[in-house]
Amino acid sequence: MRRLLTPLAAALALATPAAAAPPDLAKMGAAELAAFLKAFPKGGELHNHLGGGAPAEDILAWAAQDGLCVDTAALAISFACAGEAMKPAAEVQASEPLRSALIDSLTTRRPGFRDRSGHDQFFTAFARRATTPKRAGDALAETLDGLARQNTFYAELMVTPQFGPSRGLGARVGWRGTPAATRAALAAAGIDGLVPAVSADTDRIVERAREVLRCGAADERPGCQVTFRFLAQALRDGPPEQTMAQLQMGVAVVAADRRWVGLQLVAPEDGFDSTRYYDLHMQIVDLLTDHGRATPVALHAGELTLKLVTPRTLSHHVRDAVRVAGARRIGHGVALPEEVGADATAEEMAAKGVLIEVNMLSNQAILEIDPKDHPYAWFRKKGVPVALSTDDAGITRTELSGDYAAAVRNGATYADLKTAARNAIAFSFLAGDGLWADPNVYRRPVAACAGQIGAETPKGACAGLVARSDKAREQWRHERLLKAFEAARF
Ligand SMILES: [Zn+2]
Repeated sequence: MRRLLTPLAAALALATPAAAAPPDLAKMGAAELAAFLKAFPKGGELHNHLGGGAPAEDILAWAAQDGLCVDTAALAISFACAGEAMKPAAEVQASEPLRSALIDSLTTRRPGFRDRSGHDQFFTAFARRATTPKRAGDALAETLDGLARQNTFYAELMVTPQFGPSRGLGARVGWRGTPAATRAALAAAGIDGLVPAVSADTDRIVERAREVLRCGAADERPGCQVTFRFLAQALRDGPPEQTMAQLQMGVAVVAADRRWVGLQLVAPEDGFDSTRYYDLHMQIVDLLTDHGRATPVALHAGELTLKLVTPRTLSHHVRDAVRVAGARRIGHGVALPEEVGADATAEEMAAKGVLIEVNMLSNQAILEIDPKDHPYAWFRKKGVPVALSTDDAGITRTELSGDYAAAVRNGATYADLKTAARNAIAFSFLAGDGLWADPNVYRRPVAACAGQIGAETPKGACAGLVARSDKAREQWRHERLLKAFEAARF
């Protein structure tokens, strides 16, 4: 039976509406959750490889426009067009069976494609996704526009700058017995001299992206509103002096060009060189970055399972990325619970504020980890900061909001997702101080901005902070979006 309110209670109910209760995401159906999370402001994306972000359809369209071919036997884009199996990309685009087979080949949408494991299908796909250099700008444009469509306005993109010249210089210098001696030799050989070429390449990528997005025109695309920075990624494959040359150049680039904000190490972590040089790579990063103090470092670590590596290899990668190399963020970290001293490492990460970039759907495709079994639940329990990201959305055919939905299947609440989204800016490598005194908790703004979070315009000292700090500016924008999102829904 419905009880009538007393006049006093009715008056109070009108005067003080119940505090907005966040929705129980676990009770939402898949469609309701999808719509909710697409619109939810997700802050930013900290783990996104530009080379894996573009959809296969775009790769094929660029190939057709640039006069490339498709090797119809290998189902790969090819710069060369000679040979019986080669067809112009434009022809493949016009043939539905061939186009569909090529999309299968460039993505992980078909499990077991050509009898490859998800891991092998994923990592071999990069070589089949050939593009001309200018298309890096097109890929950037599509990635930024995709984030804007999902109400998300910051991205750190992993790119490999000056690959051939940096590794070539490393090869000429060779390994000099220790990281310190090799560093000196690389410096003497002029590794820092590659920085202007990196900046010129960056100019071209950014200009092309702005052209594709029509930034500045009346009909500019939403992607123009997304702030972005780059992380210089080095490959773990090959002789360590070549990996080191890439990293050392990356350190110089971050120091010289504010669009570049940190380093990463990539390539399958379970590979022969990745595993045998892992300890050395951590020492090299430690030396080159002064344990992450001089140059921010995010490292792929623990993107492993016992299907891929030995128990010994599984036992220490995240720990050493944090303790030896000084990584401020860990990409994946899936193997952490399996490592020796896992609890202590997790507690150290929580205490130091070392964030894990969780990539649920990439881990599902490559490592065969069901989102409900992903260690993200344990990271939350241990207080380890987490942000959510796609990794290579063009290959896995996913979107960031899908990773947020997967996080709900892992038990994440609305409050957890709100924290993950805020973390994606607070733990970014953007310059300047943040708006929050307690990142990963978000109860205390810094004194200058107390009582102002979510307001339209910052006032007083807070206005000064937002004006001079890239990070505070992005956080301010995010809090405005969050407030609008919540006001419209609950
Ligand atoms: Zn990655």
